[in-house]
Amino acid sequence: MAMDTEVATDFEVVIGLEVHAQLLTKSKMFCTCSTDYANAAPNTHVCPVCMGMPGVLPVINQGAVAYTIMTALSLNCTIPEYSKFDRKNYPYPDLMKGYQISQYDIPLSKNGYLLIEYEGQARRIGIQQELGVKTEIKNMNSFRSVERALAYEAQRQVELLRAGIPIQQETRGWVETKGITVAQRSKEYAHDYRYFPEPDLPPLIINRAWVEELRAQLPELPDARRARYMDEYGLSAQDANVLTEEKALGDYFEQVVAASQASDRWTRAKAAANLVINDVVRLLKANSISVEESPLPPAASANLLDLLARGRITGRQGKEVLEEAFASGKMPETVVQEKGIEPPISDQGALERIIEEVITNNAKVVSDYRAGKTNALQYLIGQVMKQTRGQAKADSVRTILITKLDETPPA
Ligand SMILES: [Zn+2]
Repeated sequence: MAMDTEVATDFEVVIGLEVHAQLLTKSKMFCTCSTDYANAAPNTHVCPVCMGMPGVLPVINQGAVAYTIMTALSLNCTIPEYSKFDRKNYPYPDLMKGYQISQYDIPLSKNGYLLIEYEGQARRIGIQQELGVKTEIKNMNSFRSVERALAYEAQRQVELLRAGIPIQQETRGWVETKGITVAQRSKEYAHDYRYFPEPDLPPLIINRAWVEELRAQLPELPDARRARYMDEYGLSAQDANVLTEEKALGDYFEQVVAASQASDRWTRAKAAANLVINDVVRLLKANSISVEESPLPPAASANLLDLLARGRITGRQGKEVLEEAFASGKMPETVVQEKGIEPPISDQGALERIIEEVITNNAKVVSDYRAGKTNALQYLIGQVMKQTRGQAKADSVRTILITKLDETPPA
């Protein structure tokens, strides 16, 4: 990924990211051991194959190959006709066989790119094998650390180059507390993995028809989904971005729109986007719950939107109903019934009388308002809301109040 930095206008900073991702397969890559080991006791999800006992043979997990190819297709990679596995030799305390089966020179996919949007501009992140002389930084535990380490390292290298000192190819560690990178191993001491073709596995011939089958099984990818949300639901680019960052969140949003009945599609979508982005996400975060486990299912969010759209509850009551529905898992309409929330005051005459009363009883605040104190208006709105026990719509109160204040002559 090429990016501009503020520190150097005469250098181009090229950054490669090594990303480790674990595929959601049921069993391991080369044996039948379960991958569900997160809470398992040590040495319970191992077998002679993964321990590399004499006489055993690994078997390639077809599901893992399928997921790898699907990931590669999503990233616009090319899939070779032929791929092979290689042995990467190194001693490590939890690797008793002393090697890993990896891929060295003919991996399952190569090249490819990912398009992202940055500050309103489309950027292309290329997927490449190797860079030139480079330093590798390890030990970053958060996206924030990655950003800080990269900025530090770019600056460090610029300073070296300006001083005429060549960059050493080496591995450097990020020291979080000091905000610096320090040399860990230079090339001289780098591992020699002695890669060689894995003798226990045949080369993999990748059937073209199978690749096309896998391509057809790909879910809608974020880019396509983002464009569709703007096109089909009339969402802003910003809302579409937020809702497509995580598949489950986008799914939730679409289920809300589908279940909601009020208004036209675009109005419904806009209301659903606001509710999901501002309220549902906030409540989920505050309770450390994922959207899939939300106690407020899409149907409940849709129900809340319909109550609001029909004018059955005010926006202010909506917030209260939402909190309660989220906490109890009840449908918003049930919450409204159980709490005995009366329909908003739709009788304009009744609302006007209450407002006139508030104006009469708050002469001091009214004169403050006329003297230009803007928070006086807020206070008066608050008084009306209190009188109506929150059953008036805040925007109607505001409009009527301003009209009355302007037409009532100062006492
Ligand atoms: Zn095993």
